[in-house]
Amino acid sequence: MYTMLCAGCGHRTAMTLLDELIGKKRLKEKTILALDVACCSLLIDEVEYDAVMCAHGRVLDVAKGYQSVRKDKCVISYMGDGAAYSIGIEEMIHAARRNDHAFVVVINNGLYSMTGGQIAPTYVGDAAEDDQDAGFRAEKVLSGFPIRYLARAALTDGPNIERARKYLETAMDGYLSGSGFHMVELLSPCPTNYKLNPKDMGEMINGQMTRHYPLGEFVKEGERNPC
Ligand code: SF4
Repeated sequence: MYTMLCAGCGHRTAMTLLDELIGKKRLKEKTILALDVACCSLLIDEVEYDAVMCAHGRVLDVAKGYQSVRKDKCVISYMGDGAAYSIGIEEMIHAARRNDHAFVVVINNGLYSMTGGQIAPTYVGDAAEDDQDAGFRAEKVLSGFPIRYLARAALTDGPNIERARKYLETAMDGYLSGSGFHMVELLSPCPTNYKLNPKDMGEMINGQMTRHYPLGEFVKEGERNPC
């Protein structure tokens, strides 16, 4: 599956986790995957459920439209960090402000990967370890709104991928059982643009990236944890 992606790409791990979750919950016939452009768009021909490709940064608005007319559907908003926190930051903030009923997955690799690795607002590069402003931390912005769930995991190794699986299921369960905004950000390898082998890419995420992007659950059932 997902043969268009580069070797070691985190999108493949993220989509495998989502596919397992959709299968486990028997949601294949009910799912609509709203995809952003860029590397996300490479997924559209291989998913085994309905999918729509949205204009760059506009996934949340498209998903809101589907959700408002098809309340029976499981609408998954899937996008990269450039879409979520740069070109789509307006949509993100207003969806969180309204506490839209949404299940959102953001793949954060710090780059605009498909167009050659230009830096995104999430890029931390060689920033000092204690520079909290080096990258866009979603929990600093979004947990000020009345959202239901916000968590971050890393798609790097077994324990971290297990944590990602758990957070995705918690977010989906909350989304399916009620209403409100549920989001999981996944720190994700892009070995092609960082020019690292998958092992070194994983170590870079577990070291440098997680110092700027702590892992954990920041909002759970509407309750905020310190961040
Ligand atoms: S460029 Fe990066 S994000 Fe895009 S498919 Fe390749 S590894 Fe994945």
